Amino acid sequence: MEIKKIKGNTFCITAGMTYIPFYKINEKEIIMLDSGWAKGQRQGIDELLEKNNFKVVAIICSHAHVDHIGNNTFLKNKFSCIIAMPAYEALVCSSVINLKLYYSNQTLSDVALHFGHMVCQTDMMIYDNQNSIYVCGVEFKILHTPGHSPAHICITTPDDVAYIGDTLISHEVMNGSKMPYAYILTEDLLSKSKLYDLKCSKYIVAHKGIYNEITGLITDNINFYKNKAKAIYILIVGSMTMQDILKTVIENFNINISNRYKYTLIERMLRSYVEYLNETGLIVLNMDNGFLKYSKVNV
Ligand SMILES: [Zn+2]
Repeated sequence: MEIKKIKGNTFCITAGMTYIPFYKINEKEIIMLDSGWAKGQRQGIDELLEKNNFKVVAIICSHAHVDHIGNNTFLKNKFSCIIAMPAYEALVCSSVINLKLYYSNQTLSDVALHFGHMVCQTDMMIYDNQNSIYVCGVEFKILHTPGHSPAHICITTPDDVAYIGDTLISHEVMNGSKMPYAYILTEDLLSKSKLYDLKCSKYIVAHKGIYNEITGLITDNINFYKNKAKAIYILIVGSMTMQDILKTVIENFNINISNRYKYTLIERMLRSYVEYLNETGLIVLNMDNGFLKYSKVNV
């Protein structure tokens, strides 16, 4: 784990497959953009902060995923920092019960066990109609990019460096991804397109890269997700239940399901592709002897 200077007072922590940006207010105080993953990154981030004698005064979160807000409460307890987050994401991670809204296919005890550490208290809610936020007297611009998660945002620092979060993934991540995640793919694709109009001097993609220009990456991301949807569409033969589709996708995409948590994740990922195919009019839902089945629209 190390610190990379991006531009002006904007830096980022390189942590394995993740870049975590931060903005330096002065020699000591920093505002983090996301707080990273607890399991694999907490110790490294903590050591790096100590070594540089940094005090985290605030965390602005792009979205409430486990690898982005995993150290919020840990850092809040340690530094009494402010947490700012899109309002809906903040509500989702405000309690274990609310987290269950998002992880609806897991039991409450499993949610508590695996995601309980994500629960945090947000001090500043960022609303849908807000396109900037002042945190500790510093203005950050906000671009709403829902889809990857319900209220995902991109955050631009005063140095004109945009943190894209998970709205895009790098080519490296695309190459290793069998079925990339989107909560609502239809919205996610619209948000990716929105980025064509975001003109900044640098862009940080969480997983992961630093770019001067992202036009090509946006197009490649859109095509990558659309092609995955197409590949799933091809596998739908006749009339299939969601479970039937899941089974054939797991086999054909060669996805290794080693435990039930991976299974529930894949199930959730697949659902957004199937919904996308349905919403774009390629497949229809029908009731068949009490089962909900999906089939291609006859063309
Ligand atoms: Zn995410």
